[in-house]
Amino acid sequence: YEAKKHRNSVRIFVPAMQHDYLSKIQIEQRLRNAMNNHELYMMYQPKVDINGTLKGVEALVRWENAELGFVPPDQFIAVAEAAGLMPELGQFILYTVLQDMVQLQQTLQVEFPVAINISVKQILREHFVRDVLHSIDAAGMARNQVILEITENVFIDDMDLVVDLLHALHVAGVSLSMDDFGTGYSSLSALRRLPVDELKIDKSFIDNILSEEDARKMVQSIITIGGNYGMSLVAEGVETAEQAALLHAYGCECFQGYHFARPMRLADLQAFIQAAAVAG
Ligand code: C2E
Ligand code: MG
Ligand code: MG
Ligand code: MG
Repeated sequence: YEAKKHRNSVRIFVPAMQHDYLSKIQIEQRLRNAMNNHELYMMYQPKVDINGTLKGVEALVRWENAELGFVPPDQFIAVAEAAGLMPELGQFILYTVLQDMVQLQQTLQVEFPVAINISVKQILREHFVRDVLHSIDAAGMARNQVILEITENVFIDDMDLVVDLLHALHVAGVSLSMDDFGTGYSSLSALRRLPVDELKIDKSFIDNILSEEDARKMVQSIITIGGNYGMSLVAEGVETAEQAALLHAYGCECFQGYHFARPMRLADLQAFIQAAAVAG
């Protein structure tokens, strides 16, 4: 297939397609139009305590294209990064999420933090810090209610610059969360150099926590590290009550996963919060 001929091409598998592979170019072209065509939208997944009480939400982007069908975010984000589309896409996500959250929180008269995933290609864009702060302030959201989720791969590029920029955001009142913690090559040095407020224990550990002693030890170690640094801990991808109970016994207080709630549209999040308020 065409993409094979090019050394730097990325081949993407899209399950919805009949022919198996799409070239990076095909995705890239459609992605450029996706923002204008309203094919991109946000879902919000609740973060809860052991009783299911809402602690915050994570914003997760979705893309549905007429020809390609549903393209998973880890696939098209990678294409957007490689194609130089990430600054624009990231700004679109930030803007959309802030509008959604301000609207929802005003309607329901509740306040909770929103977590937004940030790609390193966004951080390295000119005026990133200024633009983020301006977007938050202009939307009318409190800075301390915004959590930026980063992964250790922020260190792949210019490490010193990334560290400086993230410190500047933190000093200005924005929170930082280390996503997929424990899966990268430099988890611990990343922690040492960045002003991280929250650790998200990667789903791969949670998946095996009931069956594997090694996964249990790793999760306990991560919880200890987070505790020692005064960070909040979030368990990602919690799918059963047994997993949640064990994590809670280990000292984890915040959970995200299908057992509690799936990512949902804004209107469904509103209903979810209202139902919880009635029940409470
Ligand atoms: P992530 O930030 O680690 O997000 C968590 C992923 O786990 C989400 O997948 C979520 O839907 C999924 N998940 C949550 N609970 C469960 C569970 O109990 N079981 C299972 N099987 N999955 C669960 P999603 O939405 O497909 O996103 C995948 C990745 O794509 C994200 O990982 C993040 O790295 C990236 N991503 C998603 N949205 C954005 C965005 O707006 N901006 C950026 N830069 N990256 C994004
Ligand atoms: Mg995340
Ligand atoms: Mg994660
Ligand atoms: Mg992930």
